[in-house]
Amino acid sequence: MIVRAPFRCSMSEIQKFILSKELWIQKVINQQTQRTLLQIPEKIEEGEKIPYLGRWYPVTWYEQKTPLIDGFFYLPQTWQGELTQRKLIRWLKKEALTYLTKRTAEWSADVQVPVNSIKITTAKKRLGSCSRKKDIRYTWRIMMLPPTLIDYIILHELAHIKVHAHNKDFWKLLLQWQPTLPSLKKELKSYIIV
Ligand SMILES: [Zn+2]
Repeated sequence: MIVRAPFRCSMSEIQKFILSKELWIQKVINQQTQRTLLQIPEKIEEGEKIPYLGRWYPVTWYEQKTPLIDGFFYLPQTWQGELTQRKLIRWLKKEALTYLTKRTAEWSADVQVPVNSIKITTAKKRLGSCSRKKDIRYTWRIMMLPPTLIDYIILHELAHIKVHAHNKDFWKLLLQWQPTLPSLKKELKSYIIV
């Protein structure tokens, strides 16, 4: 940790200051070094950054087939000035359904585990779930994560089609499909998804 202080401050004054701010400093360090907050801003103006597929993209206005072009996040021009968090989330849910349906189908063919249906939720804690009828649910919020972690969540749910519990067989199967599993699990914990 680096503390910047004016020349006229004595060491004891600096020490006192650090002690008085210790809790606050610890909180800031936790936020900066351990976990990244992924959240859609309340109000979205031009240039506002949005977390999407693991990166922060500045918003710009223009109707495009795909939102990500040249490092910008394109949204319809008619939304300018009136884009709320709610409206963007509704839009992200549709994007999530397209992206996650395609990606799940690819993985499903790859590991040969058929899926019945895919739905998108707005859950904050439950990133994904899978029923015994092979219906998979994902929260749209995982679209803010890097693609490698989205793949991890998809494979996690596909593994649940074969093994319903988080037991030894489950983790063994998932490790077979994803040899980098331990680091992915750790990486996922480094994000706070809101
Ligand atoms: Zn699970």
